[in-house]
Amino acid sequence: MKDMHNILAYCRSPYTFGRRRTREVTVGIGPNGPVTVGGDNPIRVQSMTTTDTRDTEATVDQVVRLVNADCEIVRITAPKIKDARNLGVIRNELTARGVQVPLVADIHFLPSAAMEAAEYVDKVRVNPGNFADRKVFAMREYSDAEYEDELERIDATFRPLVLRCKELGRAMRIGTNHGSLSDRIMSRFGDTPDGMVESALEFVRICEAYGYHDIILSMKASNAGVMIAANRLLVARMDAAGMDYPIHLGVTEAGDGEDGRIKSAIGIGSLLEDGIGDTIRVSLTEEPECEVPVCIDLLGLRSERPVNGDTTKESHARAYDPYAFTRREAACVLLGGNGTGASEPIRVATHIEFESEPVETLARDVETLVAQPRFDGDPDPKSADGHDGAEIISVAVSCDADLERLRALQVSLPEHRFTWTARMAADPVLAQKSVGLVDIIDVSINGDDNLTDATIEALLATSGSSGLIMQWRFKLRSTSGERQDYVALEEQVRRLAEKSPANRSIIAIEGRDIISAVRYLADRGAAGTLPLLLSVTHDGPGAALLHCSVQLGSLLCDGLGDIVEVHDGGGRRSSLRLAYNILQAAGRRITKTEFISCPSCGRTLFDLQTTTERIKSKTGHLKDVRIAIMGCIVNGPGEMADADFGYVGAGTKRVSLYVGKECVERDIPEDAADDRLIQLIKSHGRWVAPISTEALLNA
Ligand code: SF4
Repeated sequence: MKDMHNILAYCRSPYTFGRRRTREVTVGIGPNGPVTVGGDNPIRVQSMTTTDTRDTEATVDQVVRLVNADCEIVRITAPKIKDARNLGVIRNELTARGVQVPLVADIHFLPSAAMEAAEYVDKVRVNPGNFADRKVFAMREYSDAEYEDELERIDATFRPLVLRCKELGRAMRIGTNHGSLSDRIMSRFGDTPDGMVESALEFVRICEAYGYHDIILSMKASNAGVMIAANRLLVARMDAAGMDYPIHLGVTEAGDGEDGRIKSAIGIGSLLEDGIGDTIRVSLTEEPECEVPVCIDLLGLRSERPVNGDTTKESHARAYDPYAFTRREAACVLLGGNGTGASEPIRVATHIEFESEPVETLARDVETLVAQPRFDGDPDPKSADGHDGAEIISVAVSCDADLERLRALQVSLPEHRFTWTARMAADPVLAQKSVGLVDIIDVSINGDDNLTDATIEALLATSGSSGLIMQWRFKLRSTSGERQDYVALEEQVRRLAEKSPANRSIIAIEGRDIISAVRYLADRGAAGTLPLLLSVTHDGPGAALLHCSVQLGSLLCDGLGDIVEVHDGGGRRSSLRLAYNILQAAGRRITKTEFISCPSCGRTLFDLQTTTERIKSKTGHLKDVRIAIMGCIVNGPGEMADADFGYVGAGTKRVSLYVGKECVERDIPEDAADDRLIQLIKSHGRWVAPISTEALLNA
């Protein structure tokens, strides 16, 4: 357990919502007047065009579509001076069409392009990893004097832009990307959240030295956990230095579809729950206007985000390090053929009810919950220990008849390695009758229950004599997050955890909003070393996929949770798939190919959406392989982070292939690139053949 006195604090309290107070930075004029970021202003929604910046008509059309979708700030890439100059033409055309929206120039590498762009746009985004540095992936030791010399060199390169932006009243985003830190930062800090934060602060200090404060900062990564840690650390460092700059949030190269939305929700949503973030972008490999509704839905998950003026930081012992991933320590509990807690994979559970469906229907349904084999060579295709099937099935049991139905259900199912749970009220007699039928007795405890010591002892006696696992389930009643609710909850959890054997008991927390309660319990060690089951239910307004992703993903990135359960309102199969996808996006359990694809921009050299779909269809069956699909060779290799293999646009209809950060095949024709990528994966021993339909039917 960490002492918060020794950890820089990033929010007032991890249990009570309070939006961080930041200074206001105006970034231009929108349809309804000035668009100001930070302060008490709404959290702003932004996106980026994907057209060639010199194609004025296509770019203006796309900006108009974004504005019509309620995008408040639009970024446009300016790779060269000619592109930067065309931003003025784009601005004039938008004005002629009666469209007012703040424009941001996205700059990598060329200070001259930034200087040109500053003449026409409202904000200039610079990447401190490549504004004054050409990345050569060279690691060397810098003495303090050499490092100082480097900072002076950066000052000389960056100062003209700072002074020009100040003179013109332009805002600036200093936007760090995890994958494109300078060699200098990498050499001293590595590609760590520390390095990301320092990379930005070096530029901030230069801005401040010249009296320029219209700054917004961002810390982006394709790994949601790294992005969360870097932003928290940024806030802690800024607060310690008396800086109050607004923050832009985004997960880079999140991909497309459900996976892209889940990853973004985990990164952005977790930080919004921390009260961090003044403007957001959801980067998807889709049309840019598809990003806007996702941003709006994410912001809608918490309807009010008032700024909390109280900047006093509460001091807590913490169960987890908010700046680096560590999994909470928990005892190993064996569940039939699987284990949970300790270093076991995070397990996935689902729930069925007898009252709504006959046993025959349920049996057919449960068959579909078995893990689907995905490739030849799966040692046990019917195993529930992998891929996307239920590993634990809980059944609501309230009477003898339910136990008979459970028996009939199990008889009607062929052999599967499910762990069965009987979910019931605190009923020692029913628990005793469940022995031999299930592996876990799940006792639901509602706030008003008066669970006597005698009842607890009787239940534990059954568990002790039969080897059954006891699971104490706490259903959160309110979403208010009031401190007094957590105090009472802590008492109940601690009482049961202290009585329960560590290697045969689990604490389950169920509710719609569970983040604060689970953090509170973990920080106080209320559950001891018992594994934690996190159960999230989406039963109200708002987007289910985003809500469940934020609630579970945030806790998983904090290292909390050993079993997860999702009820997204879309049925068992949908809930299971979402649970596995959240685990994958949070980086906690990898069960399918991980695709990292950039959202594309004016630099993109091929159709990123169709290319991504095509490569996914050929490699999507692989397990535990990360493939990056990046639109350009200028930023792609740097930003594809920890991908195993990279497919990167190298020129018109030309592609370069990477293994890690190393380019192994240069400039090959696009129509041969897919096969060469597969060959590359095979030659590194990471390929398995997709399972045939026939094999699937016979499995
Ligand atoms: S990697 Fe993709 S989004 Fe990034 S600059 Fe290149 S083409 Fe644009």
